[in-house]
Amino acid sequence: DRLKEGLTKTRKSITEKIDQVLVAFGKVDDELFDELEEILVTSDIGVDTSLKVIEDLKKKVRENRVTDAMKVKDLLKESLAELLAEENSELNLESKPSVILVVGVNGVGKTTSIGKIANLLKQQGKKVILAAGDTFRAAAIDQLDIWANRVGVDIIRQAENSDPAAVIFDAIQAAKSRKADVLICDTAGRLHTKKNLMDELKKIYKVIDRELPGISRETLLVLDATTGQNAVSQAKTFNEISDITGIVLTKLDGTAKGGIIIAIKSELDIPVKLIGVGEKMDDLQKFDAREFVEALFS
Ligand code: GDP
Repeated sequence: DRLKEGLTKTRKSITEKIDQVLVAFGKVDDELFDELEEILVTSDIGVDTSLKVIEDLKKKVRENRVTDAMKVKDLLKESLAELLAEENSELNLESKPSVILVVGVNGVGKTTSIGKIANLLKQQGKKVILAAGDTFRAAAIDQLDIWANRVGVDIIRQAENSDPAAVIFDAIQAAKSRKADVLICDTAGRLHTKKNLMDELKKIYKVIDRELPGISRETLLVLDATTGQNAVSQAKTFNEISDITGIVLTKLDGTAKGGIIIAIKSELDIPVKLIGVGEKMDDLQKFDAREFVEALFS
């Protein structure tokens, strides 16, 4: 399937090496764990997370009295799946309308992800409206417009450089009068002006809370898997300036850095809710830890 195909390079970078080591060792000993740890560390999983996974693996090996190295693989899968397991990977869209604010730096796949999410929700029978809140770039507005047309949903836009909070305000009024289920708002991705972006997001949150008190609100952070550890530091920064409720990890297809998903989960404890596995409209999947680990090891 799409996920398995997309993870080919990541699988090569992690699991093929692991298989080789397990076969070479045959038996379980301390050196085997060192080798496995080395593979994890060099696979974008991060040092701290790798240590954590190996500690858990050692415990499982001990508890199950495993001596055959080949049996270690199943336990490793279990350790990773447990680490990645989410209690709340579903989007919280209970209220009508509900709002999804989408944040992330330029180029990570924010616009594409908004289009894909709109498509996913539309397929579930929901009425979706997009708000072109990245008013800093005319191209961003036009790109979102193209996606709105492609998916077949309404878009609320204003001219370049207009106030993003005003666009969101307009979009909320439209969502109310058109009885939309979900309003998906794009935002500017200029992280180098951290203070400006923080103020902008604050203003947007204020408008949402005033116009739609008590609604279900998601703030999804879009991260590009191909940027590896950079994605982790972006997540840390965005988490400081906004209230991130979930992550959309894009470009998992064709990267060897898919291990980053494990680092993100372990270091930030923000649920990965959706993953991008291609450029097309339906190349977006709900994140499922077991499926992910299976695809990684298959
Ligand atoms: P934005 O600047 O963050 O809004 O980024 P865009 O949505 O314009 O995407 C930047 C590029 O990444 C485009 O060429 C997209 O087609 C591509 N892209 C987005 N998501 C994915 C994905 O999941 N997989 C792949 N392979 N490409 C993606």
